[in-house]
Amino acid sequence: MQIDMTNMYYKLAQCHEKIARGQVWCVQCGNTEAVEAEHAFKYGWPQCCGETMTIDSPEERQALEASKRPEGNSQ
Ligand SMILES: [Zn+2]
Repeated sequence: MQIDMTNMYYKLAQCHEKIARGQVWCVQCGNTEAVEAEHAFKYGWPQCCGETMTIDSPEERQALEASKRPEGNSQ
């Protein structure tokens, strides 16, 4: 039995909103790049500053960090 990898990549690319929008950011220098999700799954995600670029936008990373902070810990 064979698994249809092409179809799997396609589904992966479509099922995730952040992946589907086709943009990645460098966490080090803030550089941003357009990426085709299907291509990225097959051949690897773009890299910048020696690290794999992230699908989370700077705003989304900030929101994520803020949500991790314990409540009532404002400085
Ligand atoms: Zn960079």
